[in-house]
Amino acid sequence: MFEILRTIDAMRDWAKTERQTGLRLGLVPTMGALHRGHLALVEEAQRRVNRVVVSIFVNPLQFGPAEDLAQYPRNLEDDLRQLQGLNVAAVFLPDSDEMYPGGLGVTRVTIPGLSEVLCGVTRPTHFNGVATVVAKLFHIVEPNVAVFGEKDWQQLVIIRRMVYDLNFRVSIVGVPTVRAENGLALSSRNRYLTQEELKKATALYHSLQEARQLYRQGERRRDALRRVVVDVLTNAGLSYEYIELVNPLTLQPSPEYLQGPTLVALAVHVGSARLIDNAILGREQLDEAALHGNGD
Ligand code: AMP
Repeated sequence: MFEILRTIDAMRDWAKTERQTGLRLGLVPTMGALHRGHLALVEEAQRRVNRVVVSIFVNPLQFGPAEDLAQYPRNLEDDLRQLQGLNVAAVFLPDSDEMYPGGLGVTRVTIPGLSEVLCGVTRPTHFNGVATVVAKLFHIVEPNVAVFGEKDWQQLVIIRRMVYDLNFRVSIVGVPTVRAENGLALSSRNRYLTQEELKKATALYHSLQEARQLYRQGERRRDALRRVVVDVLTNAGLSYEYIELVNPLTLQPSPEYLQGPTLVALAVHVGSARLIDNAILGREQLDEAALHGNGD
C-alpha cells in the first residue's frame, strides 16, 4: 500500500527520506481519471527507479476560462484502486489551495515558440499552466526521472525544453500512446463520449493510419499527406480544430516536401469533447537517444 500525501511539506519530507536511503525517485504527473495509459507511465517509471510517486491534481492553471475544468472527470476512489494494483510508493494529492495559496499566483513558466503552435493556438495559456505546475512538482518531489505520454507530444517537447533551459536535474521519459483495441487513444476525456461518439472517434486513429500508409508508399508531399487525414475525418462527420505536419522536435511547419521525420498532429471535436492524437512519419530516422535524454 502507498502513502497518500496531501501537503507539499509532507511530500517533500517523504521524498527526502527516501532519497537519503539512496533510492531513486520517479514521478508520474496526472490529473486523475486514470486509465491504462496512465498505468503504462507508472510501469515505465518502475522499470527505471526504485520508488514511484504518482501525483493527481486537476491543475486549474492549464484550463482556459471557457474550458472543462468544472466538468473534468474526478474519481479518486477508482484512481487509488487502480494504483493499488501497481507497486506505487506514494500518491501526491494536493488541493488547489495547497498548490496555489491565495489564488493562482503570479509566476509563470513560459516556453515561447513551442507553446503558441498546434494546441496553443486555441489554448493560449494552456502550456504555461502545464509548465508552471510541472516545475512546481519537480521542485517538490525532486525526482530523478519523470514520465509523460506521447499522446500529448507537444507537452512532452515543452517539458523537455523547460528541463534543459532551467537545468532541472531530471530525466524526461516519453511513453508511446496506449490505445483501445479499435485504435482510439485512451484519454480521460473519452468519458464525455456516447457509445456512438466513441465509434466516430476511431476516425482520428484511422486518419493517422492512412497518412502512415501513404507515407510508406513513398508519398512525401506535405499537402497530399494532410489531405488524406482531412478526408478521413470529414467523411466521419468530424470537424477539426487543426491538422498539421510539423518537425517533431521544433514543432515548426514541415517543408512542402517532407525531408525528415514528421509529426502529424491533430485536434478534433467529437460531441462535447476535444480530442487530440498524433503519429510520427519516418520515426525510425528520429534520434530517439536525443529525444529520450540519457535514458536514466
Ligand atoms: P492527464 O491526466 O491527461 O494530464 O495525463 C497525464 C499523463 O498521462 C500525461 O503525461 C499524458 O500524456 C499521459 N497519457 C494520457 N493518455 C495517455 C495514453 N493514452 N497513452 C500514454 N500516455 C497517456
